[in-house]
Amino acid sequence: MSILNPRRATRQVTLGDQRVGFIKIGGGLYGTTPAPVSVQTMTTGYTYEIDKCVAEINRLTAAGADVVRVAVPEKKDTDALKEIIPQVRVPIVADVHFHFKRALEAVEAGVHKIRLNPGNIQDRDQVIEVINACKARNLPIRVGVNEGSIIERRDKQKRLKELGAMFSDNKRGYLLAIMITKLEEYLDIFYEQDFQDVVISAKSMDPVVVIQAYSEISKRFDHPLHLGVTHAGPKETGCIRSVTALGTLLAAGVGDTIRLSYTSDSVYEVEDGLELLHSLGLRERKSAELIACPTCGRIQVDLISLVQDVRKTLASKIELPIKVAVMGCIVNGPGEAEGADVAVFAGDRRGIIYVQGEKVANVPEEEILEKLLVECLKFQEEVKAGRVKLGDKKVEIIPPDPIGELGSGWEKMAGQKGVGLTVGQS
Ligand code: SF4
Repeated sequence: MSILNPRRATRQVTLGDQRVGFIKIGGGLYGTTPAPVSVQTMTTGYTYEIDKCVAEINRLTAAGADVVRVAVPEKKDTDALKEIIPQVRVPIVADVHFHFKRALEAVEAGVHKIRLNPGNIQDRDQVIEVINACKARNLPIRVGVNEGSIIERRDKQKRLKELGAMFSDNKRGYLLAIMITKLEEYLDIFYEQDFQDVVISAKSMDPVVVIQAYSEISKRFDHPLHLGVTHAGPKETGCIRSVTALGTLLAAGVGDTIRLSYTSDSVYEVEDGLELLHSLGLRERKSAELIACPTCGRIQVDLISLVQDVRKTLASKIELPIKVAVMGCIVNGPGEAEGADVAVFAGDRRGIIYVQGEKVANVPEEEILEKLLVECLKFQEEVKAGRVKLGDKKVEIIPPDPIGELGSGWEKMAGQKGVGLTVGQS
């Protein structure tokens, strides 16, 4: 039984076209079927540098991004979109701040969705112009409030008053109230124009504020929600902050599309976003699932490098959710690797490889990566041909006494077949 809450039913928006494909966000209301939670990211380079931008978008698409957003601060960026969009294979979102004309130009250029920030595009007539342009082309709009831009900056007195309130004990409550009020006011403009094709986001750099904001918003609006922690820092901290907030919300059934936000290569945002969804069972895995030990003083090969190499190699070569275990020794390795389709146990500068419980190789350390890949590819072909099934046979290994008279136990495992070692099927 799942401990996750059922996903919240929302309206559904669709973005894309025949060429790049269509992505649905949210669903469950008005006769729609809920779409899988999608993974978004954003390019880090200048959009007007067309070739570099196309290359970055294609790299992000290859990593598994469902939607890619690009910044369009200047007209040369929206001009570039006309050449970029025909060269990519993923729906593109134009991220618009301050200049509503960039949104109109992006729509003309063939973009698939617009993001508007109520904190810096506030003129009602300008918002209506953007709404009408998107309506004419069936394009959705994300209304994204951010903690950093939600406070009025132009009116200094007001700014001071607001900041004063933010630093009171009730900082979070006050901030949430501003976010929700801004959203309500802004969305009224959309509703007056009979425009419901809206996705909402309410990001903060504080994961607790993010959890509170989206929990509250999910009760008040039926639009799909784009989750994110903004300015979360480099991958090392950004991952923890993002996963804390997004994982909590997704487990509670809240969230329809996500973006992890790192000061790093955006490929990491996509990889980690997908891993988060796989871990919660919200997306089907389409590549190898890696199990690896954390290493310890019993290690006898360079397992940290090996695991990194295995991860990169399998990511580009394996297209089925094969469970692959890379274990540093046989002390805990066999138990932890239980259920893996393919497993390698290292020791004594060698690796023993198992495929669904059968020992298939015993190779020196420098050949482990290559041999493991060969076995994974062979196994993948067997699965594709229908001769074996993923997860069909269970690896069940009882190691010989690893710390007693047998020492590491490696000799027994690597040597005589069957001595102190059970590799079974179930
Ligand atoms: Fe240490 Fe072996 Fe466990 Fe890896 S599998 S952490 S090497 S005991």
